[in-house]
Amino acid sequence: MRVGVPKEIKNHEYRAGLTPDSVRELVHRGHDVFVETGTGEAIGFTDDLYLNSGAEVVSSAAELFDVAELIIKVKEPQASEVELLTSKHTLFTYLHLAPDHDLTDSLIASGATCIAYETVTDEQGRLPLLAPMSEIAGRMAVQAGAHSLEMAAGGRGVLLSGAAGVPAAEVIILGGGVVGSNALAVAVGMGARVTVLDTSMNRLRELDSHYGNRINTVYSTRTALDEHLARADLVVGAVLLPGASAPKLIKHSHLHSMKRGSVIVDVAIDQGGCAETSHPTTHESPVFTEENIVHYCVANMPGAVARTSTLALNNATLPFILALANHGVKEALVADTNLLNGLNVYRGELVSPEVAASQNRSF
Ligand code: NAD
Repeated sequence: MRVGVPKEIKNHEYRAGLTPDSVRELVHRGHDVFVETGTGEAIGFTDDLYLNSGAEVVSSAAELFDVAELIIKVKEPQASEVELLTSKHTLFTYLHLAPDHDLTDSLIASGATCIAYETVTDEQGRLPLLAPMSEIAGRMAVQAGAHSLEMAAGGRGVLLSGAAGVPAAEVIILGGGVVGSNALAVAVGMGARVTVLDTSMNRLRELDSHYGNRINTVYSTRTALDEHLARADLVVGAVLLPGASAPKLIKHSHLHSMKRGSVIVDVAIDQGGCAETSHPTTHESPVFTEENIVHYCVANMPGAVARTSTLALNNATLPFILALANHGVKEALVADTNLLNGLNVYRGELVSPEVAASQNRSF
């Protein structure tokens, strides 16, 4: 199959759809891979590395969409990319169509087949192509929080590990899922005293059995929240109610009881945030202070570590990309229900009941 990787053009997006290693795997199986010049330049994947892996480097997106059938990207296609999509293309990327009526319309009009990373499932019904980004955001949350606790960032001047004779900082993690458990691992590694609050007893049991008395696990109630927020130096907001906005667990009034200069890293900001006072921020200006509490609310945290994110994403996407290329798109979709769950638009027809429902479209 002819596989193409356009250079991402969304603002500040430096990730690449395929790494040179992934290209090599495809070429090894007899596929032709085309990569737009400059695709991985910002993260150290030069055109030469792609050439050495067996790709052909093409000079423009127009040329790439002309020669390739299977288009591998990271972010949803931008307007100039949608114009290049035709019925011969299969697009495999993050799409997030549910809230985006216009993009849905234009993908339908293109006649292309569009498979969304974020709705591909695994045998347990989890979302394996979203998980790597949650892992990264969770690990980054503690790094960002540690930095935000420094004086220069407006924080209370506390080191997570403490020092000899000085207690370690209190880290409170709201939600012990993928983000929360990865934040937990880093916070424990950095020597903080960590408490995880969750409403899932199964999750708390798993974390308790893994960490023993090195951490505290607490069932999340209003009373537990009041008590632990008041003690926290760093709060990581990592809750998720699938398909819904994040619950506003941290009320405006909680901020008055929290320590001056403590930090909230609201990872759940991409679902509206779990603090009433959160609003999305950017990597250029990641924090703001409200009621003396520093808020870090970057909605696309993994973008800051684009090289690691690209590698982690490729580890998860490559098996599906190989299946599409090796067996053909239709055959691969028919053979694998988990990949089929990623199908949002098939040859110009919307086939995702969830996207249709969220946009009040007949289905
Ligand atoms: P997850 O489903 O793995 O974990 C969510 C956890 O929250 C679950 O264990 C659930 O039981 C728990 N929870 C639900 N309600 C709760 C409550 N009231 N109190 C305490 N715990 C509660 O989800 P995840 O993959 O860890 O994602 C967490 C959030 O991070 C999501 O909103 C996701 O979109 C977001 N995220 C953001 C970024 C970013 O760049 N900002 C990147 C990746 C993920």
